[in-house]
Amino acid sequence: MAVAIAEVFESDGVLLVEAGTGTGKTLAYLVPAILSGHRVLLSTGTKQLQDQIYNKDLPTLRDVLQVRFTATYMKGRGNYLCLHRLDAFHAGEELLSPVDRGHFASIEEWAEQTSTGDRTEIEDLPDDLPFWGDISATSENCIGTECPQYDACFVTQMRRQAAESDLVIVNHHLLCADAAVRQSDYGEVIPACHYAVIDEAHQLEDVATQYFGVSISPRRFERLTRDAHRYIDRDLEHTPEEAKPVRAVIDLAERYAEVFFGAARMCLSSVDRMRIDPDTLAPVAESGHRLASTLRSLDAPLARITERSEDLHSLGRRASELANHLDFVLEAADPGFVYFLERRGQGLFLRASPVDVSAIIRKLLLDRMRATILTSATLAVDGSFDYQRVRLGISNAIEVRLEPEFDYAKQTVLYLPEEMPEPRASNFTQAAATEIAGLLEATRGRAFVLFTSHANLREVHRLITDSVAFPLLVQGTAPRSVLLRNFKATPNGVLLATSSFWQGVDVSGDTLSCVIIDKLPFATPDDPITAARIQAITEGGGNPFAEYQVPLAILSLLQGMGRLIRHRKDRGVLSILDPRVLTKGYGQRFLASLPPAPIVRSVKDVRKFLDLQGM
Ligand code: SF4
Repeated sequence: MAVAIAEVFESDGVLLVEAGTGTGKTLAYLVPAILSGHRVLLSTGTKQLQDQIYNKDLPTLRDVLQVRFTATYMKGRGNYLCLHRLDAFHAGEELLSPVDRGHFASIEEWAEQTSTGDRTEIEDLPDDLPFWGDISATSENCIGTECPQYDACFVTQMRRQAAESDLVIVNHHLLCADAAVRQSDYGEVIPACHYAVIDEAHQLEDVATQYFGVSISPRRFERLTRDAHRYIDRDLEHTPEEAKPVRAVIDLAERYAEVFFGAARMCLSSVDRMRIDPDTLAPVAESGHRLASTLRSLDAPLARITERSEDLHSLGRRASELANHLDFVLEAADPGFVYFLERRGQGLFLRASPVDVSAIIRKLLLDRMRATILTSATLAVDGSFDYQRVRLGISNAIEVRLEPEFDYAKQTVLYLPEEMPEPRASNFTQAAATEIAGLLEATRGRAFVLFTSHANLREVHRLITDSVAFPLLVQGTAPRSVLLRNFKATPNGVLLATSSFWQGVDVSGDTLSCVIIDKLPFATPDDPITAARIQAITEGGGNPFAEYQVPLAILSLLQGMGRLIRHRKDRGVLSILDPRVLTKGYGQRFLASLPPAPIVRSVKDVRKFLDLQGM
């Protein structure tokens, strides 16, 4: 892999590499990147991998290679403090709760000393600190070179450091956010790089879908109006005749926003995500357009006073961008986008996401590079990279698949129960619960049971609570990191979880000896993005099931199953309870993509394997 990467760095082009867990994939791209003499952009799917590269792998390589190189670790702009907004925020400090006032005092003290402005340096700062959005360095609020704090700004300093570094380490969220703002020519932080390594590349399509679209939310609107009041109070304090018309427009916009978002919330009824079109939006269209035109009408009173402050100027820019986005979503007319309403916790979002991101990825990422390496433990579907090439817009690429590092034939068995009903059958969950209880008995717990839906998880949990003697840890009862820590610390523990645990979870050793998957993880066809992609492939004359749904499910399944064997000494049992893997024609594609573990059909054989392994 390292040689193939070094060659592509020399000759330019795109390289796709599938390298399973344990192959030393990270070192295999870091070494040629360091030795290439080029500035290389490294993008990971997760912050954990970014941390590992920057804090562990690079220091090791510095010692081993005896080569001097520099690296910059860049997180998304929202992680950093904006000094300019911190100054402006002091005015609203008295409105904070006593607890938040304490957090604000810690931030002020830390701001005096920090050299990075990265909020993770402050211990105990809650993830959902209510006012962090008011003082963070997001591109939406940044006034760039007009900022009085521009030189001292943490983002400016990070960008300058990155521009002089040999390695620039980002994650896909920042990579895509940066490429998206590059389209509007504002707020870009990643310096120009012509060589890139995209690790965990199987996540790129999803992340790109999030960032290359449009999102409207009450929170986005409230951030705008809060800033507006703050800037009016500060900059127009002595000219009330100028403040009055601006405040009048903001007040009116707030009233329209309340009506609009209230009506939008009503549209969602009981579902969390709903596709929208001009018909479904009809009840909210009038109030939405009224809100958009009110936001645009800020232009007139602001035009007379923008020279007074760059913040007021940027307020006008943000208001008209929000108005344009609002109209774009309300019209729901661009066939390249899928429009939907979404509820997340207490949050409401109206979104427009690109149906196909391949052309965007090609134009904004791949075409800007001389050489790009895309790698992951799971890229190929039944031996072919075609799926990724289509989804990521890759026409010509060199392809490399490394042999698995583990001896799956010896380290694992794949248990497929003899008799399971079809997943749609009413007795499926009961049968799954019985199988799970039997398997856990054989493995003495030490298992991840991964579900495709919260409903299945809850029902199976209810059914096995009394019959399973091992500690059950259930997703939703504690934060993800706490659950994982508890799982590692709990002898014979069993973790019941859904999609967020299917990837990026690393537990090696006998603590995790079994991974059970309840159903083949097909994306729900009711999901707006999935539905739009299925529709687009159908309209293009393709077969969405074979070309999109099955490959996507295979990659998810491989991620889930990949939790079991993380090390050459790991052993254990994989199990898929969904009979379609054997009864349906497409099941063969799943089996052909899985690691070559011997198939067993009874719990007795599972026990035999465990006994042989001394487990
Ligand atoms: S340049 Fe932008 S991010 Fe930096 S301090 Fe100024 S407004 Fe904040």
